[in-house]
Amino acid sequence: MSATLTAALLDDVRLAAVRRYEILDAPVAGEFDAFTRAAATVCGTPIATVSIVDADRVWFAASRGLRGVTQVGVEPGLCASAFRAGGPYVVNDAAADPRTRDHPLVRGGPRLRFYAAAPIVTADGQHLGTVTAMDTAPRQPTELQMTVLGHLAGIVAQHLDLRLAMLTAVRAERRMREQAVRRAASAAAIAGRVRDTAEAHRAAARPAWCQLGGAGRQCPEPAEVKIADPWGDSAWGCAAHVEEAIVTVRTVFLASAELGGLAAYADRP
Ligand SMILES: [Zn+2]
Repeated sequence: MSATLTAALLDDVRLAAVRRYEILDAPVAGEFDAFTRAAATVCGTPIATVSIVDADRVWFAASRGLRGVTQVGVEPGLCASAFRAGGPYVVNDAAADPRTRDHPLVRGGPRLRFYAAAPIVTADGQHLGTVTAMDTAPRQPTELQMTVLGHLAGIVAQHLDLRLAMLTAVRAERRMREQAVRRAASAAAIAGRVRDTAEAHRAAARPAWCQLGGAGRQCPEPAEVKIADPWGDSAWGCAAHVEEAIVTVRTVFLASAELGGLAAYADRP
């Protein structure tokens, strides 16, 4: 496999991870502001972001000092390169650095000079983006500042995992509630059919008592409804036992008054 193809496949896996976290364009409402505040404070810079790198843009889950900019392009040199790094990524003077001097945010816009980032890496090793600190003047960050930036990126990754777990739990709960409503509706429909059949069987000859109580457990209720199965067995039961049999044994059906199941049908005179 060619190196280009391998890189493309790896990026597909990474983008699938970005999608899985459902963070891009999410209404984050200040959820990540504490991270940019901490990054700017510890690095002493006016600008900080929590960036998520999409296929064709860098989206800011939080940004500070960028006057409402919510996303930028994926020109190499800044976030679009830094998120792939195995650790901290630093550009001390972007105007002099060949990696970044042609970047639109360096040549124009805020005219960035200092850029420091730590990659946001998920538990399964996917690089989603960066926590960054930026300045319009060149800088030399301390080791402590870069260490803290790395910790902040680690906490963002944990926060994204918790956020995803919460989304998943809320959806599972909603699904279970919908299932319970559907089950109740189907139980009500079965009870209605049993009532109608009991009405239709009212005149038929029958045993005195329900036959569905199980071996040695005689049911004291009167026999009201006849059920059958495709193998020809049939029995009379009380409404409660008939409902239970229909719900738990998928092949059981409500017999018509004249028909005691297929074998009885085959043995008819
Ligand atoms: Zn019974």
